[in-house]
Amino acid sequence: MVEVKEKISADVLPLMEYFYTIQGEGFYQGHAAYFIRLGGCDVGCVWCDVKESWDASAHPLFHVDELGDRAKTSGSEIVVITGGEPVMYDLSSLTRNLKKRGLRTHIETSGVYPLTGNWDWVCFSPKKFKTPEPKIFREANELKIIVYNKSDFTWAEEFASKVKSSCHLFLQPEWSKEKEMLPLIIDYVKSNPRWQVSLQIHKYMNIP
Ligand code: SF4
Repeated sequence: MVEVKEKISADVLPLMEYFYTIQGEGFYQGHAAYFIRLGGCDVGCVWCDVKESWDASAHPLFHVDELGDRAKTSGSEIVVITGGEPVMYDLSSLTRNLKKRGLRTHIETSGVYPLTGNWDWVCFSPKKFKTPEPKIFREANELKIIVYNKSDFTWAEEFASKVKSSCHLFLQPEWSKEKEMLPLIIDYVKSNPRWQVSLQIHKYMNIP
């Protein structure tokens, strides 16, 4: 890859990693997808499993052209932009670049800054540690709540009442609490069937 020495901009973004795998969570679970994980996050979830993503300056900068070329070469139809927290950046040039190559643009975000770019699918996963921007409620195609303790069901309903009616609703146990929370989630979904269970199946498959 060609590392660049410019400042972060819409054309130049910090890249933590990229990989072609199976989407393990949410609505597109089971689909082949190319992931671009951008560096940088200021949300601060205590249970974050990618804390090494937080410091944007720890990650090399890449042109969106290069990111687009890599994604296209993978053979994937879907490109998922994740982080870190990708909405920290202007993503309009990146999504333009991906779409120019005929790729689907998906994002996973906690929605804490206004969303930029042109998206085919928005997975909104709010976190208790930083309040999301209200505009994301209209933009979300999928609401994914990470359940870490019992009170999170009430919190999840607050967001479900704010997103558009077509938004798909998922409850996903936080990985380290899965044994404790999954039975509660199953009971909750049986009583509230507009919600669905989401599991991190990539972790069961031992893939990234
Ligand atoms: S928003 Fe994501 S990357 Fe940021 S701290 Fe939370 S889980 Fe980690």
